[in-house]
Formats: sequence, C-alpha cells, structure tokens
Amino acid sequence: MSHTAYIGLGANLGDAAGAIQGAAQELAATPDIQALRLSPLYGSAPVGCTGPDYVNAVAEIHTTLQPAALLAALQAIEQAHGRKRPYRNAPRTLDLDLLWFDGKTIDTPTLTVPHPRMHLRAFVLRPLRDLTPDLVLPQGNLAGLLARCADQDIHPL
Ligand code: AMP
Repeated sequence: MSHTAYIGLGANLGDAAGAIQGAAQELAATPDIQALRLSPLYGSAPVGCTGPDYVNAVAEIHTTLQPAALLAALQAIEQAHGRKRPYRNAPRTLDLDLLWFDGKTIDTPTLTVPHPRMHLRAFVLRPLRDLTPDLVLPQGNLAGLLARCADQDIHPL
C-alpha cells in the first residue's frame, strides 16, 4: 500500500543547496519510494543554534516503506552526507526529519510523528504549504501556524 509522507530537509554547511538537491535525488532513487515532489528552496536564520543560514525544503513522497524503515533510509542518507554530531543542534551538512506519515500518530523511543516541533518552525511550514496548502496539523492549519511564526526569517532562494 502506498503512503504519503513529508520529509523536512535542512543543511547549513558547505554547499547546502547542493546537499538538499542531492538528498532529494537520493530519496527519489531509494527502493520503495515511488514518487517525490520537492518544494522550492528557502533560506532561514538558524533557530536555537548559531552558524551560517540554513537552506530548507520539504519533500512529498509516495512510499511503500513503513515509518521505521523510512526513518532508517533517511538516516542512511544523512550518514552518507558525512553528518557529524559533536553536540546537540550543531551545524550539520544534512538533516532529514520525518514530518508527517499519512496523518498517523507515532510515538516510539526513536520516532515521533507528526514531528513534535514542526508546527513552530516557519522553515518547515512555508515549504510544506507550497506542496500541500490544505494540510491540517494537530495544532491547526498551515496558514494560521505560519502567522504565529511571522517573526522567523524565511526567504525564497
Ligand atoms: P536530530 O539529531 O535532531 O536529527 O534527531 C535525530 C533523532 O531523533 C534520531 O535518533 C531519531 O530516532 C529521533 N526522531 C524522533 N522522531 C523523529 C522524526 N519524526 N524524524 C526524524 N528523527 C526523529
């Protein structure tokens, strides 16, 4: 059975835009991911950390993978991009988050879906709205949630 999932992509080291485009291609080439649509790319100032601006996007995928297997695929792509984790919220070459999976609620030690902070982040909500303007999160619709983070810098690249 095919599932619809949204993946948040972020990078802020080196060729960040190239890392996002490359990760999207790798996702599209993953076995059991049948289709991918990538949002426009945005620039955003770091939230809760320091360092260069982030490049962010969201991908919509159709997949026959189950959530845990999809998370493992995302982590393999992160690792292949040489992500290091010297400390929490350290700058990263590539960060992939599973934001949404068929509207399911998942709460395990390794996976929380919908992503518990996505409703607070303009850099997620804005590209997500480009792909699926009518999506409604547990906390509200995208337009309303975006209005609440109007103080966050987010600009099209
Ligand atoms: P981070 O370093 O912020 O990318 O967090 C990665 C960790 O968060 C991993 O160990 C995952 O198991 C966990 N995690 C929990 N929920 C999610 C999610 N929805 N998407 C990605 N990682 C998640």
